[in-house]
Amino acid sequence: MRIAIPKETHPGENRVPVVPGTVKKLCLLGAEVTIEPGMGEGSGFTDEQYTEAGASIEPDRNKLFSEAEILLRLRKPTLEEVALMSSGCIHISYLDPFNEHELVRALQKQGVTSISMEMIPRTTRSQKMDALSSQANLAGYVMVLLAATRLPSIFPMMMTPAGTLKPAKVFIIGAGVAGLQAIATAKRLGAKVTAFDTRPVVAEQVRSLGATFLDIDLGDTGETAGGYAKELTAEQIEKQRQAQKDVIADSDVVITTAQVFGRKPPVIVTRDMVEGMRPGSVVVDMAAETGGNVEGSVPNETVEINGVTVIGQANLPNEVCRDASQMYSSNLFNLVEDAWDKESKRFVIDFEHDILPGCIITHGGEVTNETIKNILA
Ligand code: NAD
Repeated sequence: MRIAIPKETHPGENRVPVVPGTVKKLCLLGAEVTIEPGMGEGSGFTDEQYTEAGASIEPDRNKLFSEAEILLRLRKPTLEEVALMSSGCIHISYLDPFNEHELVRALQKQGVTSISMEMIPRTTRSQKMDALSSQANLAGYVMVLLAATRLPSIFPMMMTPAGTLKPAKVFIIGAGVAGLQAIATAKRLGAKVTAFDTRPVVAEQVRSLGATFLDIDLGDTGETAGGYAKELTAEQIEKQRQAQKDVIADSDVVITTAQVFGRKPPVIVTRDMVEGMRPGSVVVDMAAETGGNVEGSVPNETVEINGVTVIGQANLPNEVCRDASQMYSSNLFNLVEDAWDKESKRFVIDFEHDILPGCIITHGGEVTNETIKNILA
């Protein structure tokens, strides 16, 4: 089966979808792998490394798209790219199907089988394919380092003849994959960490990392069958804001990672809370690009509010692009291998498969994913 891997074109994107080691594994499955020249250069991989691993090179991007039976990508395709794909082609990438309605329709009309990496279920079996987790994990690490380099003081306690420095106080809101890694990273750097999440089950995980869990009684918050947080009511959000106010004012660093799957992230740190922090404090808003957890954060910018640095940098895993590429590439390979029929050496679209149906968005000229179909209706 012909697998094509084009170069990512999103401005500033240095992650690459497939690393040379994965090409080797795909070839061992019996796939023919073709890449666009320079596909790996953002993360420091050369064309030679890919050809040594078994790939061939196709400089004609249009041909690469039109002849592919499977396209492996990181970012979603453009409408122009969709028009190049053949009917029956399998396109695997992040797709943002909740928001990209025109794109989903285009993939449907083109007869493309589109698989969305965001829709891989968060189950133990699919963990190896879970790109949201692999990338969020790195984002959690990066956020702490960004904060640490902007803070005019250090994270650990230091007792020296010149005096004793107190550890930085770090407050992490949202303790999913990114938040837990942020907690672990801040702890490793010696900070005093407090965290909060609306899912009660998280409290134990926070404590096991040596951090303090901020207890706020919001009544019934629960979680969805898929393990995601449920959206809070307006009253619950207000209660959360008030209960966090003092901790935020007393923190040197606030990191927000709160998300509600398929919805706009909640605003949980208001502008007056940022203004209430000590000058020099740092806020990192992981959700800045998708609407923001923090009032006043600007996507892809670092702004100052009353002397407080507010970081809204998007694409955080890009800061550690080599490891991010490695992990994403493994996620892609594990998905392909799981759906691969070793006899026919083909990726089989099987709607009885336990993972695939949930992440296939379009197939055979239809929008097959029920959630996305309902959104589009
Ligand atoms: P996410 O990115 O959807 O959300 C990040 C965090 O924000 C979540 O922990 C969520 O509870 C929290 N949140 C939402 N609203 C909030 C608010 N108002 N205030 C504070 N926090 C708020 O989450 P994620 O990191 O992608 O993880 C989603 C779920 O999937 C979690 O339960 C996670 O443990 C689970 N998961 C399971 C597996 C597995 O079993 N294989 C793998 C990965 C993730």
